[in-house]
Amino acid sequence: MPYRLGLDLGSTTSKAVILAPDQSLLGHAILRSNHTPSETAQELIDRIVDQHHLVSADLAVVATGYGRSQAEKAARAVTEITCHAKGVRHLHPDSACILDIGGQDAKAIRMDRDGGVDDFAMNDRCAAGTGRFLEVAAARFGLDVGQLSKYCGDSAEHASESPPFEITSTCVVFAESELVGLAAKGTPARETLRAVHRAIGRRVTLLLKQVGAKGTVYFTGGVAQNETLLRAVAEASGLEIKRSDLAQFTGALGAALLAE
Ligand code: ADP
Repeated sequence: MPYRLGLDLGSTTSKAVILAPDQSLLGHAILRSNHTPSETAQELIDRIVDQHHLVSADLAVVATGYGRSQAEKAARAVTEITCHAKGVRHLHPDSACILDIGGQDAKAIRMDRDGGVDDFAMNDRCAAGTGRFLEVAAARFGLDVGQLSKYCGDSAEHASESPPFEITSTCVVFAESELVGLAAKGTPARETLRAVHRAIGRRVTLLLKQVGAKGTVYFTGGVAQNETLLRAVAEASGLEIKRSDLAQFTGALGAALLAE
């Protein structure tokens, strides 16, 4: 039995997960995606092979993500939707619904009893409900996306306040002008950024509604690391939202599990 490697060649980051022949997790790696997915894929393979002293001929490789068809060493290319379902069900056997938010798209997925995909809804036409909006908003205030949640403050404080205003633009370009307008009125950066999270929470709730999400939703993708957004989605949707283990690597894990 070979080692199994899953590659998730995303629009913003590329991820790899390596499984031992007994399916145990050996390790993972992440790189910023460059404009040539085949190069990023090879860089990830080299990194994993070096780190774990493997021979690349012993790897069974499956690729997913927007650049999946460019991964030359992959025996198969599988959609992110299938891979996220596979990865989440493996980590959380009781799971039925997934919310995946990446750099440039957001997806809601409802699984069937066997962990297959029953229904999904995707937003890949507009950046307003994706990590891209958070990146634009963070950059405007001189922050990194990884700092946003801490900057926005803790949940107890949020709950005791009624929102002073909402961001209503449904397009990042217009939303950015709203941010400029709010700054001109002297609105504190923290209030504006909290409103950005609430706006994304409302947008992705529409996707969850489209697939009839119920009960607990497992949050995957790089954006799932943002606690403020997780709470905003829970509040807007009324659903329990849990961050999936290995959130940003769930698609790569699903691809690795499919590399048989
Ligand atoms: P894709 O697969 O579409 O390339 P990912 O699922 O890897 O995207 O997610 C990338 C996005 O995750 C980035 O746009 C960024 O906004 C967000 N992100 C990355 N790290 C963090 C973090 N520590 N906290 C919050 N968001 C993050």
